[in-house]
Order: sequence, then structure tokens, then C-alpha cells
Amino acid sequence: MAKVRVGVNGYGTIGKRAASAIQKMDDMEVVGVTKTKPSYEARLAMKEGFPLFAASAEHVAEFDKDGIKVAGTLADMVPKCDVIVDTTPGGVGEEYKPMYEKAGVKAIFMGGEEHGVAGISFNALANYHEAWGADFVRVVSCNTTGLVRTLFPIDRVFGIDRVFAALIRRGADPADKKGFTLNAIEPALKLPTHHGPDVQTIMPWLPIRTMAVVTPTTMMHVHCITCDLKKKATDAEILALWESTPRIRFVSGKHGIKSSAQIMELARDLGRPRGDFMEIVIWQDGVKMEGNTLYYYQAVHQESDVIPEIVDCVRSMTKLENDPMKSIQKTDKALGITK
Ligand code: NAD
Repeated sequence: MAKVRVGVNGYGTIGKRAASAIQKMDDMEVVGVTKTKPSYEARLAMKEGFPLFAASAEHVAEFDKDGIKVAGTLADMVPKCDVIVDTTPGGVGEEYKPMYEKAGVKAIFMGGEEHGVAGISFNALANYHEAWGADFVRVVSCNTTGLVRTLFPIDRVFGIDRVFAALIRRGADPADKKGFTLNAIEPALKLPTHHGPDVQTIMPWLPIRTMAVVTPTTMMHVHCITCDLKKKATDAEILALWESTPRIRFVSGKHGIKSSAQIMELARDLGRPRGDFMEIVIWQDGVKMEGNTLYYYQAVHQESDVIPEIVDCVRSMTKLENDPMKSIQKTDKALGITK
């Protein structure tokens, strides 16, 4: 069977990881990636063997001047694709939607865009079939992916009356030039924060409220979550449920993993590409049921948790695999995500 042809518009933090992941799948291929400038990432893309396209005709001269021969522009790349993964900065993706629409090419937008850009927000475990055959889908943000991954199975088995989540957010990605304040913690003053409504784009029935602070770290987000359950549960039952859920991994403070820094060290020790951690990481010894209330902490590697979701989203939109679990397993096996 012919492979699904995928183009990545915006080869940045998420785009380069998405391209590497798609290249590892036997049912998809990377047709090309775009860059605005002849940066080190443009050279990296070529080294990885991805045809390099300039974002627009105005950018071509800059590549020429730097001795880089591009394969064309985004406008040339789009018609060669079945699906575009749009990983341009938040708000830019919607500007490209008319181009994709005109070419009759499907597109996946990222969490920096509004839900309305596609009308379907995606998480493989929770709503794989909503994206089935769709032309436009949005893969939700790193934080929303993290919340849905752990809350969806709990809601399915025990039922959730209400959730409160406090998000301790990383200030910037490690390579960002425009880093956040070096020595401050900044609360989001518009309350409750948008993260709860964003979870509801996938689980509209879930009563969830969120608050968030931005902190001077680049490694991961940490979520502090309390959850009132409809049915009784024990700590062991909660842990067993998450243990059997894909893309969730336990760590233990007792074994010396007490912070996000040590989780990132574990990712490097495991030889994960780029030191990424695509699973949502839960502190096993920080899970506690008290009465009907579940308390837990989880860590989210913002640069990579959405990557396997993007791959599954391509499969659902192009009707490559009807069974969500089969798609998830295929993706995880190819990406080396193991329990
Ligand atoms: P980034 O800035 O690292 O990468 C964006 C890329 O798009 C860069 O290569 C940039 O050169 C390119 N670009 C800029 N303007 C462009 C244009 N007009 N046309 C084509 N390319 C253009 O951004 P990112 O962190 O990868 O974020 C991309 C999207 O993914 C955003 O919607 C963001 O909200 C979402 N997201 C980011 C994270 C994260 O933590 N970094 C996590 C999940 C989702």
C-alpha cells in the first residue's frame, strides 16, 4: 500500500520531532519540511534527508545566498502531500489554512491555534474516531494532552465528579532565545485559566477548573491534580489502571526521581532521541486516595508529549487504521515508547 505523504510546515521544536517520528513509521513518509531561514535547523533537516522547502518565495534568496538549494517553496510542497502537519508558531497556522483548503490537502494544527481552526481537537486514546477522515484537526497543547492522558481513563472506569488542576508551567523551551523571567514566578491572572476549557474540547462533559503559574525552568511542566471520583477506588486500583494505559509512565521518589530534572536525566539514560519523554510521567509514590478524592502529581515534557498524538492523528484522518489501540501501539513501538 502507498505510504501517506506528509509535509511539515515549520521545522522548529515540534516540527522537527514530528518529522523524525513520521519518518520512523512504515505507513507514512515525509515529503518535505519548511524553514523561513537557512539556520542550523535547515541544515539538520537536509542531513536527516528531508527535502527542504522555503516558507515563501521571499525566503528563497536568503537560502540561495547561504549556498542552500531549496526544493521549492511551501506552495510547491503542499500539493505533493496528503497531510500537512502545521507546526508554525501559535496563530500562524490559521493563516495557512486557506492555502491547504485550496489545494484540497488535509492539515493538522497545533495547540497554539484555537479549537475553531479545525473544529476537532484530538487525543488518540480519548477521541481517535472524531478525526476519522477529517480534513482539519487540531492536536491539543502539551498541557491539555497531559491532562487528558491521565484523566480520561480515570473518568472511564471510576467516573469523575470534578477536577482541579494547578499547572506549574515551564517558562520557555530550552533553546528559546526569548526566555522567561530568570528569577520569578508569574501567576496567570485570568481565572480560571484556559486549560480547563481546552480539556473540554475533547471531554466536554468533564467539570474541570485550572490555575497556572509560570516558573523559571525550561525542562517540564508539573501538574498538581485533585479529582473527586464517583466510584470508590484504592491507590492500588488507580495505579493499576494507569499502568495498563499507554503513554503513562511511573517514576518513584523512593528510587531517587524527586524532580523534573531527574526525569529528564532518566530520558537521557534511556537513550531517548533528543532526551525526550513522550509519556506523561506520574510519581507513583505521590498518588493518594483520601475518601473519594484522588491526589496526584504528573510531569509533562512539553517538547515531545504531543508527537505520538500527531502520528495517530495522521492515521485517523487518512483512515489508515480503524482501531485506536492498534494505531497507538504501532506508533509507540516505532518510537521506542515502552512501559
Ligand atoms: P517554534 O518557534 O519552535 O517552531 C516554529 C517553526 O515555524 C520555526 O521553525 C519557525 O522558523 C517557523 N515559522 C515561523 N513563522 C513561519 C511562517 N510564517 N511560515 C512557516 N514557518 C514559520 O514553535 P513550537 O514550539 O514548535 O510551536 C509550534 C506549535 O506547536 C505552536 O502552535 C505551539 O503552541 C505548539 N506546541 C508547542 C509546544 C512547546 O512546548 N514547544 C508544545 C505543544 C504544542
